[in-house]
Amino acid sequence: MRGNLLDAIGNTPLAKIPFDTLAGIFAKLEYLNPGGSIKDRSALFMIEEAEKEGLLKPGGTIVEASSGNQGIAIAMIGAIKGYKVIITVSEKVSEEKIKTLKAYGAEVIICPSTDFIEDPKNYHSQAVAIQKKTPNSFMPNQYFNLSNPKAHYMTLGPEIWRQTNGKITHYFAAAGTGGTISGAGKFLKEQNPKIKVIAVDVDTSFHATGGNPKSYKMEGIGIDFKSPCLDESVIDEFLPVSDKHGLGMLKIMASKYGFLIGTSSGAVAYAVQSYLDKLEKDDLAVMIFGDSGRAYLSKDYY
Ligand code: PMP
Repeated sequence: MRGNLLDAIGNTPLAKIPFDTLAGIFAKLEYLNPGGSIKDRSALFMIEEAEKEGLLKPGGTIVEASSGNQGIAIAMIGAIKGYKVIITVSEKVSEEKIKTLKAYGAEVIICPSTDFIEDPKNYHSQAVAIQKKTPNSFMPNQYFNLSNPKAHYMTLGPEIWRQTNGKITHYFAAAGTGGTISGAGKFLKEQNPKIKVIAVDVDTSFHATGGNPKSYKMEGIGIDFKSPCLDESVIDEFLPVSDKHGLGMLKIMASKYGFLIGTSSGAVAYAVQSYLDKLEKDDLAVMIFGDSGRAYLSKDYY
């Protein structure tokens, strides 16, 4: 126990979704984390591991490339722990996320949307360059830092296992870095190797197109390059979802079921809905709702 806001990260509830099936369908409401997304877990883990290893020192600066939520989580934790925070984001990131980053006191650098992460103009390349020239700085580097999947292995996986009394049969999560699907997926497979671990991707991502990506609108989802945080050995299946289907699901989830969810969650909900005919009566599927629709209201998807 730290006795502060950081203790409120994790232990999010599971809620049933009454999709038209005899199987049990549940969503893990990661948008109820204090920073508003699943990425509170990985940010806290990467920061505290870096502190332990002496890579991040008092008065230091944290620099990170983010589709928004990892940056928001780092900015919140930086405010609590007294670090300066610089976040690079792609220009497609919602205005709400950029304003949230600034509210927590982070400096935000908006970079052009590029097809490849290696492009020097890309938000990842720019964060690397800023970190190199900033004294006493640390880059969590979520795409390469194995503390990212480890956070989900240590917290998200055990919570899902406990909350379903070990009855989970299918685990669905959006993949960006791959930390969420791989970390919790590994934990769940260790408990019961029969559990199906299903990664939801964007149909035009680097991974889904075999290396010929096209930009897409959904945020926080899409495997943009081969990240060591994506452990394919624990993933049974990849389900690619288009912008049209993922974004189209947002209004249905809010107005029919009462879940005001973000874009990656829309893709996950669509993927699960398309999978229903493969589920049987005793199956229990858990999907991750990574953030809230409140971060995207200005985009008029709802
Ligand atoms: N959903 C949301 C809302 C996210 O912000 C992210 C991370 N960018 C993900 C899902 C994907 O998580 P991961 O990076 O662990 O694959």
